Amino acid sequence: MFVDVAKISLRAGDGGNGAVSFHREKYVAAGGPDGGDGGRGGDILFQADDSLSTLADFRYKRKYAAEPGQNGGASRCSGKSGKNLVIQVPRGTLVKDAASGRVLADLSDDQPTVIAKGGRGGWGNQHFATSTRQIPRFAKSGTPGEALEVTLELKLLADVGLIGFPNVGKSTLISVVSEAKPKIANYHFTTLTPVLGVVRMGEGSSFVMADIPGLIEGAGEGVGLGHDFLRHVDRCRLLLHVIDVSGSEGRDPIQDYETINKELERFNPELRERPQIVAGNKCDLADEEQLARVESYFREQGIAYFPLMAAIAEGTPALVNHTAALLQTLPPVRRYEAEPLPETEEIGSSAHTFRVRRENETYVVEEAPWLLKIMETINPEDYEALQYFERVLQQNGIIQALEEAGVQDGDTVSIYGFEFDFVS
Ligand code: GDP
Ligand code: MG
Repeated sequence: MFVDVAKISLRAGDGGNGAVSFHREKYVAAGGPDGGDGGRGGDILFQADDSLSTLADFRYKRKYAAEPGQNGGASRCSGKSGKNLVIQVPRGTLVKDAASGRVLADLSDDQPTVIAKGGRGGWGNQHFATSTRQIPRFAKSGTPGEALEVTLELKLLADVGLIGFPNVGKSTLISVVSEAKPKIANYHFTTLTPVLGVVRMGEGSSFVMADIPGLIEGAGEGVGLGHDFLRHVDRCRLLLHVIDVSGSEGRDPIQDYETINKELERFNPELRERPQIVAGNKCDLADEEQLARVESYFREQGIAYFPLMAAIAEGTPALVNHTAALLQTLPPVRRYEAEPLPETEEIGSSAHTFRVRRENETYVVEEAPWLLKIMETINPEDYEALQYFERVLQQNGIIQALEEAGVQDGDTVSIYGFEFDFVS
C-alpha cells in the first residue's frame, strides 16, 4: 500500500546533569570543586533518501528518540554527548508540527535538518567556584530535549504531472516517453501509487514526469482515490491533461476535461492557474469529425493541444518537445519555506520583573523566574551566549538597578546561584 502521510512523535535527548564533586588528593585537605558538565542530548534530524519512495515505515514505528547526554563526573569529567538520530525520508517530504500545522522543513535537498534539538548539559560545580563561594554544593541539571509530534507529508517533486480520468492512457504515455514502467491495463485504477519517470531530451537535458493515479469526479472533496493524490499535483510546474478523444468509455472528452479542472480548483484554486497542456489520446479509435471537434474546442481557447496515440508512441515527440520548451519558461519546483515558531517572550518585556537586594558584599538578583529560564539555556563557556546574557540584563534594566543599588567594579553579583564579578 502506498503511504504518503504519517504522524510520529519525536523526543530529542535530554542534557546530562552537571556533577557536584570535590578534588581529593592525599595530603590535600579540602580540594576545590571539580564536578564536570553534563553532555548535550542528541538532536533528531531528517534527511532525504532517494532509495525511499513511501512513508510506509512510519506506519509501524511511530516513536523516535535520540540518546540523552551522560551526566558529568568527578575530576572535571564532562558527560558524553548523546548521539544524534537521523531519520531518512523520501525526497519531497514535508515535516510539519502536528499541533499547529506549521511547516518545519521541506526535505527536497540533501541537507539534513534538525527538527528536535537535544537538551543542554548542566554545569558541573567546577564553574561555580568564586572567591566568595569556595564550596559550591550545587550543579545544574541538564535541560530536557525537545519533544513534539510531527506529521510527514510526501509531496512528490516532479516537473510535469499527468492528470485525467482513469483509463485514458496516462500510464501508457509515461511508459513510452520515459524509463518508468508502470502497470498498464484496460481497467480503472490500475495505477495506485504515483510513478516518477525521467524524460530525456538528449544533450543532458531532461525533466521529471509523474503518473498520478486517476482523478475522478468528487476527488476534490475526498471521494474515492483522487483526494490523496491531488497533493502530489501540488508541486508540479506544469500539468499534462490526458483525455480519451474517442470517448471509448461513453463519456465526452470535453466534459471530462472540464470535470477534472473543476476538481483541481475545488482542491486548491491555485492549481487551476497552473499551466496545462492537453493530450488527446486514443486518436486511432476516434472518427474524423470527433477529432476535429475536440481539436477546435481547445484551439479556439488558445490551449495547447496535441493529438496522440500513446500506445504506439504516435504524436509523443511533438508533445514532449513542447513540454520541455514550456518548462524552460516556468519557475522551478516549489519548495516550502520553514515557518519559524513565533517568539513567545521578547527581551525587554514589561512582564520581566526582578528585585535587587544587597547582602554584605554581594548583590543578589531575585524574584525573576523568567531570568532563571533564560539562564538554563546559557552555556557559560560560550562567549556568544554570555554576551546574550549580558544583553538580557542590560535590556531589562537589571544592570541599571544594580548600579542604583551601589554596585562597584569587583563586587559579586549573584543570580540564582550564578555568581560573577561586576564589571561596568
Ligand atoms: P491510465 O489509467 O490513464 O493510466 O490508462 P492506461 O495507460 O493504463 O491505459 C488504459 C488502456 O488504454 C490500456 O488498455 C491501454 O493499452 C489503452 N491505450 C493507451 N493508449 C492508447 C491508444 O493510443 N489507443 C488505444 N486504442 N488504446 C490505448
Ligand atoms: Mg494508470
